[in-house]
Amino acid sequence: MKTGSIISYILAAIVIIISFLFILGSFSPNGSASWMIVGIIGLLFGFALIFAGVRLASRAKETEASYTLDIDLPGNVQLGAMKCLSCGAPLSAKDITMVDGAPVVTCPNCGTTYQLTEEPKW
Ligand SMILES: [Zn+2]
Repeated sequence: MKTGSIISYILAAIVIIISFLFILGSFSPNGSASWMIVGIIGLLFGFALIFAGVRLASRAKETEASYTLDIDLPGNVQLGAMKCLSCGAPLSAKDITMVDGAPVVTCPNCGTTYQLTEEPKW
C-alpha cells in the first residue's frame, strides 16, 4: 500500500520536472506557445499525482488502524448478543481464543469448538 504512494510521488516529480522544461522552453526563441499549454497540463497532472499519493498513504493508515482495533475488540463489543451456533447458549469474551490469528469459539455449555465468522464492519 505504501509502495503505491511512493510510486505516485516519483511519477509526480518526473512529470513536474518535464512540465517545467516545457514551460521554460516556451519562453525560448525556438519554443512555441503550445509548449506552455503542455507544461501547464503536465503540472496539473503532477499535482494530481501528489494528491493521489497522499490519499493512498492516509488510506493505508486507516486500514492499519481499523485492523488493530479489530484485534483489540473481538470479544467485548460484539459478543454481548452472540450465541453458540450449536446449542444456543450465550457466549462471553472468555470463550473466544485466537488461533492462528482467527477467533475460535469454545462453547462452555456443549463444548463445541468452531471458528468465529465475523462480518467485517468496515
Ligand atoms: Zn454450545
